[in-house]
Amino acid sequence: MFERKDLEQLEKFNFSDAYVVSLFLNVSPQERKKQAYLSKFKNLVKTLPEDIQDACKEDINKIEAFLQSERESFKKSVVIYSCSPKNLWVRYDLNVELKEDMIVDRSPYTTPLFDLLDNYQKYGVLLVDKRTARVFLVFLGEIEEYGIVEHEDVPGKHKKGGWFALAEKRYERHIDYHVKMHLKDVIEKFDSFLKDKNIRRLIVAGPDEAISELMNILDEEIKQKIVGITNIEKHASKEEVLEKILPIIEGYEHSKEEETVSELITRSLKNDNAVMGIDDVLKYLRDKRVMKLIIAKDYRVEGFICKNCGFATTQNVECCMECESCVMKSYNLLEKATEMAIEQAALVEVVKEEKNRRKLLEYGGIGAFLRF
Ligand SMILES: [Zn+2]
Repeated sequence: MFERKDLEQLEKFNFSDAYVVSLFLNVSPQERKKQAYLSKFKNLVKTLPEDIQDACKEDINKIEAFLQSERESFKKSVVIYSCSPKNLWVRYDLNVELKEDMIVDRSPYTTPLFDLLDNYQKYGVLLVDKRTARVFLVFLGEIEEYGIVEHEDVPGKHKKGGWFALAEKRYERHIDYHVKMHLKDVIEKFDSFLKDKNIRRLIVAGPDEAISELMNILDEEIKQKIVGITNIEKHASKEEVLEKILPIIEGYEHSKEEETVSELITRSLKNDNAVMGIDDVLKYLRDKRVMKLIIAKDYRVEGFICKNCGFATTQNVECCMECESCVMKSYNLLEKATEMAIEQAALVEVVKEEKNRRKLLEYGGIGAFLRF
């Protein structure tokens, strides 16, 4: 897992006297059959000019050796930054597929990773009981544990019987007090964790009793971020936690997707700051009015792009309708649209769930919410 500050650190590498190789390669188990990913890597190398290939031969060999020897540890994709003369070697294993690419330049190419940070949600998980609390972060299908809060001074509930009722009651109150203090401390720590990591979606887990005590003292602001509640055993391994959490996240994201697609359709039919269809979307992208781009996964549209001003259209034109320069054929205008959206800091959301995807395709496969 990587964070914004890791990427900012990487950005600082700028070698005027050496090249950095940036590689984005999908290496899911499917790709690993017959080592398909290795031939894809070799093809990417071939796309580089020969003098560049020579200049970073050491890095290319190092990456190839790595791809052959480390495949057992791969996830869905791997990102590598390598600059042997300067001892730079950074590797990220991701649980999502990426647009495959290999860039050789004076500095690491980090845009695709910044895009992932911008377009995927982080989920905070709080696993709480009456004495302890564990905090996890789930991002891009991976989980990391960020710490544990333990209040060992919470007195244990003693066995019933052999104690008269009044003392029992006082003792219960004593426990309640400690539990409340523990939970208050947990909430405080968790809240600063959420702010620090810029997390806006939460899942609360634990035994029912601890969850309901927690909900009683939780701020409305935090409560609104909760997208799911579940029972998880307090000593669960992080893999077990992830296994419980992923279906909740998926369910939540599907329902969000459904909401987004319906809102897009309703609003664009009412001309209420939303549009659908590639030509309209491109038009508003040119005017820099797009707030959020919504795209059906794997959707493609052919068209033409102006070599001079970047004007793009699905219409069969020979010259640009804006500047009359030459146009070139594009096999996927959606890529152009995504690129423009990212350039102007608009959000891009890809609709993946099949039912939602088909609904969006009926209405043109792409749409946008507008700024004004
Ligand atoms: Zn033009």
